[in-house]
Amino acid sequence: MADNAKPADRRVALVTGASRGIGRGIAMRLARDGRRVVLASRSQGPLDEVKSAIESMGGSAGVLVVDVGDPEALQRAVEKVAEVEGRLDILVNNAGITRDGLALRMSDADFDQVIDVNLKSAFVACRAAARGMMKGRFGRIVNIGSTSGVVGNAGQANYAAAKAGLIGLTKSLARELGGKGVTANVVAPGFVETDMTSALPDEVRQRVQEAMAVKRLGTPEDIAAAVAYVSSDDAGYLTGQVICVDGGLTMC
Ligand code: NAP
Repeated sequence: MADNAKPADRRVALVTGASRGIGRGIAMRLARDGRRVVLASRSQGPLDEVKSAIESMGGSAGVLVVDVGDPEALQRAVEKVAEVEGRLDILVNNAGITRDGLALRMSDADFDQVIDVNLKSAFVACRAAARGMMKGRFGRIVNIGSTSGVVGNAGQANYAAAKAGLIGLTKSLARELGGKGVTANVVAPGFVETDMTSALPDEVRQRVQEAMAVKRLGTPEDIAAAVAYVSSDDAGYLTGQVICVDGGLTMC
């Protein structure tokens, strides 16, 4: 554990979508760096497993079951974390879904659901967390975007719109909150090996890999390393940025 702070002085991080994939990787990394991590997603079992993994390496974690697509429930949940933990220093909005399809055939429902879960949830969570962060004169907001939100992606009009929206949200928050010690940044992965990308056909996987400067798909740990820095005390002068962690796929 890198941080020797007494438990009461430990920075508290809330990570949404922490049950698997990139969110799990981020939670494990922040815990390894000495944060107390509150793990959020829709079902208890997988969160309990991540909590056990964190505790077995000497870290500290709590569990929060919430559907980030339900704004009232999410608002209440974020406020509760700050109240129960006594502080909320780091917010990582990572929960996300895809409902891919060509724009001409995309239903309103698939568009709206992706916007609600991937974009509106981040707004609601940031709004709920920001007041306490400003009061404490410290905060780190990290929104997990996607290179699709920067360069677009055929078949992902809904997802790319949500992730592009996250960039505008984050830059606006960075401007509103920067004077109070609160930073806001986007970490934008390219292609990472998780459940979200497991259905990619082999030939697509191969093509993407070839297009990457580093010639491999990303891991949750690759993304977590960037989040660890952006959310650290050292990163107080870094705000309003989009950090593409994509193995040199887009170089955006
Ligand atoms: P994943 O393996 O599918 O995991 C998604 C996580 O989000 C799970 O923990 C899931 O938990 C949670 N989640 C989904 N809907 C939720 C909801 N309504 N309420 C609460 N939690 C919810 O995805 P991933 O690949 O790790 O992706 C994580 C983030 O990275 C997403 O924002 C994604 O857009 C972004 N990203 C991923 C890639 C990639 O290549 N994998 C690339 C660019 C960006 P439950 O299902 O248990 O609730």
